[in-house]
Amino acid sequence: MNKLLDKKQLDIADRSWLAKNGRPLIISGPCSAETEEQLISTAVSLANIGSIDVLRAGIWKPRTRPNAFEGVGETGLKWLKQAGKETGLPVCTEVANARHTEQALKYGVDMLWIGARTTVNPFSVQEVADVLKGVDVPVMVKNPLNPDLELWIGALERINQAGITRLAAIHRGFSSFEKTLYRNVPRWEFPIELKRRFPDLPVICDPSHIAGSRELIGMISQKALDLEMDGLMIESHISPDSAWSDAKQQVTPTALKRLLSELVMRNKTA
Ligand code: PEP
Ligand code: MN
Repeated sequence: MNKLLDKKQLDIADRSWLAKNGRPLIISGPCSAETEEQLISTAVSLANIGSIDVLRAGIWKPRTRPNAFEGVGETGLKWLKQAGKETGLPVCTEVANARHTEQALKYGVDMLWIGARTTVNPFSVQEVADVLKGVDVPVMVKNPLNPDLELWIGALERINQAGITRLAAIHRGFSSFEKTLYRNVPRWEFPIELKRRFPDLPVICDPSHIAGSRELIGMISQKALDLEMDGLMIESHISPDSAWSDAKQQVTPTALKRLLSELVMRNKTA
């Protein structure tokens, strides 16, 4: 059984949606879309940086405890598309079930991602995969909350078997009971092993959810680039301290510009 699993290869036919010349794909935007004004002003400032490839914003937010802000829902998709139109950036959001996926596709969201709390549940991943059959859209799959490589690969396979060949994994670290420097421990051996087993699979690092605090983002991003990861997803907000979710780990577009300029980028084709 394991032998069979090992032999199975992901069919990653198309890497054209990634950044060119070995440059990492840079995805940024707020943890959550909060208001139209917040989203558009963040997007415009990000676009002015000049090196942002994709705008992200969470529309449906999986929160740990009830009564927290759970996202603005469908109206946020209109703001997201508007932000994309005003900046020329492709836009992406998280989908956790069939309804989210149908709505995101209806509004023409350019790329989707599956969150860490969804990757742990094969029923939910399959629900999303079933909606994606016959649809051509890039999909990124975050690692599950728990350090289970097979569960991560299984989710990637479900999406791939639905016919999605513009596929990537996102490494966002793993939750642990122990208090550590990180919000989610990186366990770098997981993305390294994923890359070893599936050399064509793009792996993007999300230093924001690994860090939990903005001070660590630069260091984690550099480590990801040193490991030749294919992109970074970094949360940013026009006014991070007043963010409705993940306030401590978001950075202003100005801080992001500086952070990116300090990273040593390796040109993989050089
Ligand atoms: C997010 O990207 O805002 C998010 C909820 O991430 P994760 O699924 O990694 O916790
Ligand atoms: Mn977040």
